[in-house]
Amino acid sequence: MKIVIVGGGAGGLELASKLGKKLGKKAKAEVVLIDRKPTHIWKPLLHEVAAGSLDAAVDAVSYRAHAYQHGFSFKLGTLQGVDRQRQCIQLAAVTDNSDLTSEEVLPAREESYDYLVLAIGSISNDFATPGVAEHCRFLDAPEQAIRFHDKLVSRFIRLNRKLAEGEDQRLHIAIVGGGATGVELSAELLKAREWFATYGLNKLQSHHLTISLIEAGPRLLPALRPEISESVLTELNKRGVDIKLNTQVARAETGALITNDEQRIDADLMVWAAGVKAPEFLQQIDGLSCNRAGQLLVEPTLQVQGDKNIFAIGDCAGFLLATDTLDDGSERQRWVPPRAQSAHQMASTAATNLLALYADKPLISYRYRDYGSLVSLSGYTAFGTLMGGLTGGSLKVKGRIARLTYVSLYRMHQFAIHGWLRVILLTLTDNINRFLRPRLKVH
Ligand SMILES: Cc1cc2nc3c(=O)[nH]c(=O)nc-3n(C[C@H](O)[C@H](O)[C@H](O)COP(=O)(O)OP(=O)(O)OC[C@H]3O[C@@H](n4cnc5c(N)ncnc54)[C@H](O)[C@@H]3O)c2cc1C
Repeated sequence: MKIVIVGGGAGGLELASKLGKKLGKKAKAEVVLIDRKPTHIWKPLLHEVAAGSLDAAVDAVSYRAHAYQHGFSFKLGTLQGVDRQRQCIQLAAVTDNSDLTSEEVLPAREESYDYLVLAIGSISNDFATPGVAEHCRFLDAPEQAIRFHDKLVSRFIRLNRKLAEGEDQRLHIAIVGGGATGVELSAELLKAREWFATYGLNKLQSHHLTISLIEAGPRLLPALRPEISESVLTELNKRGVDIKLNTQVARAETGALITNDEQRIDADLMVWAAGVKAPEFLQQIDGLSCNRAGQLLVEPTLQVQGDKNIFAIGDCAGFLLATDTLDDGSERQRWVPPRAQSAHQMASTAATNLLALYADKPLISYRYRDYGSLVSLSGYTAFGTLMGGLTGGSLKVKGRIARLTYVSLYRMHQFAIHGWLRVILLTLTDNINRFLRPRLKVH
């Protein structure tokens, strides 16, 4: 039996690690993980990479080394097609563009499978807003977060020089989308300014960094409880973030966002974090169906509708939770939200089902459990709710407890891919590094 998993993110890497341990290591099945990148960074940390509080070079997991330790094999490649009849996938050629000339590293290839798991995540949705693709930055992938960080460093250095020369200047960053990514990035950037000032750019005062957080809806964090939105709004306001609610961006141009009512928001750096959609090529896979967000429709077992040999998990899977009838008689479909906890839970169910297929046993149905939501405002504070299994209801948390719970989500991901012993060692190393290493990546 050969299981091919495409996408080594929050869901795919957990699944590969589990199946590698249960099947690959015992030579019961061949488990192959394919990703377009050689290393893994847990996506919910990308705003920290962007601000510099996390160093991607230090924290990334090498797929190749991880695969060697966990009983699966890793192949570098970008999925670009699925041939369901022949049960194989097509991967694009890999080229090295890092030097003056680009050279082919791996040719375009095919990889056969008995079972295929698609775990390729999601991308930002710019809702076809003119100018956004050209002028805004996205935080979909580590390299985008790293590029943002590099730009942030050079902008801070330049600003510090101008201030030292007596010019009155500011760095203005505009973030579109008042969801968790926009909110958390705002706070990380405020903290980054503090650390840059500490680490030698001593002209930078708090008013030299201005952040606009733009949200089309009436409140921040629409997926969370209103009182959490209110607390976060108060906290960010207190720290000087300019929050613009009920503000729809109509287009982006060089150095500015233009709203529906032709208001101009000038910005040196613009980040688009206003929603996600599944990668578009999934809609072209012959015979498979997608929902409006482009996610592959899956059965309760997480097999895609219409093909029992293909599973989809995480952000690219469309799992219908319920269809609600609204007051006006119209219907609204509720889908499993594109979140790390969904990807984590789906990886567990897919692992159970692939093991069941191996052992010729019945498959189980996926059940989404909402354990709550947490937002971290960098080192300042954190807010959230813990729900269901953990609390038997809904519990509002803030401050240190919320921050510890937030950090524990990453530890749970690390546990799923590394096991307890390594998580204990990694936690110890991280604590030691807090003394040994700078608190912010300032280069
Ligand atoms: C800045 C930020 C903050 C977030 N914060 C939170 C949070 O606090 N809590 C929360 O629950 N969720 C959060 N999320 C959402 C969360 O990260 C995702 O829901 C989760 O990572 C989805 O997991 P996944 O396995 O489906 O995809 P991902 O983790 O995105 O992994 C997808 C993988 O597929 C690979 N890939 C993509 N396309 C291809 C291809 N064509 N061929 C080969 N490989 C491919 C990618 O390189 C990647 O490794 C955040 C997201 C962002 C961007």
